[in-house]
Amino acid sequence: MRPLTPLPVESTPETLPRTQAHARPDSSTDVLVVGAGPTGMACAIEAQKAGFKALIIDKGCLVNSIYHYPINMVFFTTPELLEIGDVPFTTSLAKPTRLEALEYYRRVAEHFHLHIRQYEWVKTITGEDGKFRVTTTDRHDAIHDYSARKIVLATGYYDLANQIGIPGENLDKVFHYYREPHPYFDTDVLIIGGKNSAAEAALDLWRHGARVTLVHRGSQMHQHVKYWVRPDIENRIKAGEISAHFNSRVQEIGADFALLQTPSGPVRLKNDFVFALTGYHPDYDFLRSAGIELSSEQMRPVCDPENLESNVPGIYVAGVIVAGSRTNEIFIENGRFHGKLIASHLSEKLGGGNPNFPLDAT
Ligand SMILES: Cc1cc2nc3c(=O)[nH]c(=O)nc-3n(C[C@H](O)[C@H](O)[C@H](O)COP(=O)(O)OP(=O)(O)OC[C@H]3O[C@@H](n4cnc5c(N)ncnc54)[C@H](O)[C@@H]3O)c2cc1C
Repeated sequence: MRPLTPLPVESTPETLPRTQAHARPDSSTDVLVVGAGPTGMACAIEAQKAGFKALIIDKGCLVNSIYHYPINMVFFTTPELLEIGDVPFTTSLAKPTRLEALEYYRRVAEHFHLHIRQYEWVKTITGEDGKFRVTTTDRHDAIHDYSARKIVLATGYYDLANQIGIPGENLDKVFHYYREPHPYFDTDVLIIGGKNSAAEAALDLWRHGARVTLVHRGSQMHQHVKYWVRPDIENRIKAGEISAHFNSRVQEIGADFALLQTPSGPVRLKNDFVFALTGYHPDYDFLRSAGIELSSEQMRPVCDPENLESNVPGIYVAGVIVAGSRTNEIFIENGRFHGKLIASHLSEKLGGGNPNFPLDAT
């Protein structure tokens, strides 16, 4: 492979604190992928298959978003549609659990000997096509520098929750992520939202002894709620086991109450915890900081749909970020194919890589 010289410490932008810097012998790569989600992994695998040296950097663990999903989550997708790198994914039941998916993606990472730097946060991307510089910080605030010929951004959307913008939203009792039911036994819990996450959290909490109220601005649960979850939540609501307020909004959250605006007027609820499950969005500022332009309405990164190269030559976008704010358009099922599109463009641009990589890589 082309050995690129690690960049000198002084070349890092001055905006970052420079207390420590670590240049590693493997800090130069053909393709640097930001994000070790299913898409980022697929991009690195396909780049490697095309003969390029690929490095993935993630601020969390491997498939960090999936790791942070509700502990007992079951995917709506059948396993074969979550496969990457043509590695078969078989599961004990029709739909994979979160645990099975975590195991699968670990196995895939091992199988392809993916180079992954976990717990390093990509902060800046500078330079130009063929000569990019990437700076990260790790868990100990140490700074690391990398150089890459091409960059793939596959940063997902699960890190930034959509805010509702109401008084009390910042209280400690308000969460934008649901993990597990036990801590909420025998408490009054309000769920905001009407899609899958809200429906599943409401049911899980109710089944584990919480008193659950759901509030949704729509007139009913969203049509995309999983087909096996929808009748369950609707029947619990019909039976009065879970209270629901449709065509309603939360107006204010207080220490021990929540105030709703409903069609029949204001409703004040006794409340201990709130799960505001109103969706997530990509880190637009991070994309802009790399020079990527976003469409004005849906914040879609400007890119060539044929190969996903953005308006910045040499920087590609992949996975759910390609859909901007329309995060329900791209998921693992279809985002996993972005790797092949990008890899074939890389081959066109860079010529063939080393077909034996990484087996003969040193
Ligand atoms: C509860 C839930 C259930 C779902 N179920 C399904 C399903 O059944 N089927 C399906 O196809 N899809 C499903 N999805 C959607 C799917 O999980 C996402 O669309 C998918 O994870 C997107 O993949 P990605 O690789 O683009 O992003 P992600 O998986 O989100 O990966 C992005 C990665 O980038 C990292 N990152 C972000 N910024 C930086 C940075 N600056 N530096 C370093 N690392 C960074 C993050 O830590 C993360 O690991 C579900 C989503 C949710 C929330």
